[in-house]
Amino acid sequence: MYVLKFSTGGNKRPAIWIDAGIHSREWVSTASAVWMFHLIDVNYGVDPSVTSLLGQMDVYLSIVTNPDGYAFTHTSDRMWRKTRSVNPGSVCRGVDPNRNWDAGFGGPGASKNPCSDSYHGPLAHSEIEVKNVVDLVQSHGNFKAFISIHAYSQLLMYPYGYSCTSVPHQAELDSVGRSAVQALSSLYGTTYKVGSICKIIYQASGGSIDWSYDVGIKYSFAFELRDTGRYGFLLPANQIIPTASETWLGLKHIMEYVRDHPY
Ligand SMILES: [Zn+2]
Repeated sequence: MYVLKFSTGGNKRPAIWIDAGIHSREWVSTASAVWMFHLIDVNYGVDPSVTSLLGQMDVYLSIVTNPDGYAFTHTSDRMWRKTRSVNPGSVCRGVDPNRNWDAGFGGPGASKNPCSDSYHGPLAHSEIEVKNVVDLVQSHGNFKAFISIHAYSQLLMYPYGYSCTSVPHQAELDSVGRSAVQALSSLYGTTYKVGSICKIIYQASGGSIDWSYDVGIKYSFAFELRDTGRYGFLLPANQIIPTASETWLGLKHIMEYVRDHPY
């Protein structure tokens, strides 16, 4: 697995984690991450906001966070969501890599059936894709934001998914989320809803941003990009750059906020 690191120096500066494509069929997530990589690149030294961000923080971007699943969506099954792990004793393959994190693992909203699309796996962090991210984030030790990019539904979410109890920073995360969505919508008027995973979609345990929040990364968010279901996972290619461009504005708002609110 490859992760892009944007850095202008320093040793283990406070950092921002962004991952895309952990669910392999969510192609606009992966594609948008490529375009946002480009935007970070061309805006450094040009856009004062990006320049100042990278003057103080590092940004890590994982574009293809489920490589085996992503390859499988190209060769065999466009709607494949999970990893490609072999499940001993089952003919079905794969684990849902967003039910596999050590955060309410195995609880409500995850399946113990290996044939289910939301199979949580044999144990937390059983999936190498998840384990690699966990190891990188923990050995780094100075991540201040953790942002996962999914599709679709047009949502910006914060923890928790495994519980409908509000997190201690609920008010702040909600307010950052609302401003981010306002920035996002300013480009094409795309509407987003903001809320905790549990309250805005459904209870789901073992998710990445619940794990990151519980290990102390306060600014943990998950995006669900376009659309709201007309095309769903099969969003037309001509919407990639518009989706990435608007998402970038929301993402940039979060990154600026994190830069300006050290903790
Ligand atoms: Zn997803």
